Amino acid sequence: MIQSGSLSGNLSGTQSGSLLIRGAEIVTADFTLKGDILCAGDGRIAAIGPGLEAPTGTEILDAAGLIAMPGGIDPHTHMELPFMGTVASEDFFTGTAAGFAGGTTMILDFVIPDPGQPLMEAWRAWRGWARKAAGDYSFHVAITWWDDSVHHDMGVLAREEGVNSFKHFMAYKNAIMATDEILFHSFRRARELGAIVTVHAENGELVYQLQNELVARGMMGPESHPLSRPAEVEGEAAHRVIAFAELLGAPVYLVHVSTEQALSHIAAARRRGQRVFGEVLAGHLLVDDSVYRDPDWAFAASHVMSPPFRPKAHQDALWRGLMSGDLQTTATDHCCFRIEQKMMGREDFTRIPNGTAGIEDRMAVLWTEGVGAGRLTPQEFVAVTSTNSAKIFNLYPRKGAIMAGADADLVLWDPAATKVISAKTHHQNVDFNIFEGKRVTGLPAFTLSAGKIVYARGELRAVRGAGRYVKRPTFHPMFQALHREGARPHPLFAEPAVSGPAIHTPAAAE
Ligand SMILES: [Zn+2]
Repeated sequence: MIQSGSLSGNLSGTQSGSLLIRGAEIVTADFTLKGDILCAGDGRIAAIGPGLEAPTGTEILDAAGLIAMPGGIDPHTHMELPFMGTVASEDFFTGTAAGFAGGTTMILDFVIPDPGQPLMEAWRAWRGWARKAAGDYSFHVAITWWDDSVHHDMGVLAREEGVNSFKHFMAYKNAIMATDEILFHSFRRARELGAIVTVHAENGELVYQLQNELVARGMMGPESHPLSRPAEVEGEAAHRVIAFAELLGAPVYLVHVSTEQALSHIAAARRRGQRVFGEVLAGHLLVDDSVYRDPDWAFAASHVMSPPFRPKAHQDALWRGLMSGDLQTTATDHCCFRIEQKMMGREDFTRIPNGTAGIEDRMAVLWTEGVGAGRLTPQEFVAVTSTNSAKIFNLYPRKGAIMAGADADLVLWDPAATKVISAKTHHQNVDFNIFEGKRVTGLPAFTLSAGKIVYARGELRAVRGAGRYVKRPTFHPMFQALHREGARPHPLFAEPAVSGPAIHTPAAAE
């Protein structure tokens, strides 16, 4: 499939490392075009269009029958996360490599300081761990506590380190939970810095009280997990945080929206003109809460993640949210714990490490159930798997686009390829797959990261450490339009938040 495009035999030109993708159906969020993509040796796209010339020394990849799309962006992963007394089994190398096998070329992971830990100390730890990543990555930073140093370090991160999003966990009381007081201070600071706030919306106090009730009644199995986190817990937190964001004039992004209640609050806020964004996980779109009632403890426990999988009616609502545009992005919350790690909660469901995998399967299951099932067009698929995340987190058009100057992060999709998903054959470093047994149609044939082929028809060519940290500029253009019709910040917070240019330049890479 890969051949040399040079007939002259002269490979000493300046085009070494360049690659011409010939004859693909190019699909972006905006257009569909039959043509070629020339990837330059510097890792960027040099040109797209029909009948491009191959410069001397250019490799040619025949993409007849394949769909070329921007590589997937997973805006929500937790590689090698220290959590609940253990560490996620997937590291930055294995996780980004598994992403390549599934057509995902960039992740946004999370720096999560312990309460009381200096933000910059946690920042350095995560940056160190992530150096082994095979693909490009960036970080949201969680605000888990508050004092003047946190206020200060948010400024350093936003102004110097390319962080334009801060994460808040409204759940996990007595651990990383952000109280209303923290939300207030952090949202106010983030807006001042031109950063978006992101939120895990579950009422941590309600979860805590419900967990205590269940434990007191001796209901210690994984079937208690969803009972401790019912839909109202998410709906209440979503409503509350949207009100905070409205009052403070802050754009807000809700991660892993899993319920009709939360979705309806997002939709209502958007109808009022508020800048509210919603993310949905592939798992929440496909898996329902019956898994927690399975008699096999390991099977049920392997599905423990928060928010939990939901009754099927919520799945239908989430699909409608994605189709209507009230939900803009899809993610995985990829956070792997092996069965022996899940066993930490054998006697008590509250101690089961929360998390499930999915980075390798997100694109295929969404293509199958989205495009294949007639819910999404291919262009909408690109929007919800890549482009919208790039836009919201101010990476566009460096990422999420196919155009001259964009990074050559691409997936060449074979819409006819089919397989059955299994933990026995996946590349993810975990012994369980929530999509086990699911047949998908539509798979990556080739994945390119920075113009290099990193996955070729089943063969993974991920290079440890080849991934780059990507800085994200603050003051997304939406900060210029926060205070028009609809947004109703409190008069104290009503001045424009605009400062400086928000143009993404390739120089923002390291
Ligand atoms: Zn998460």
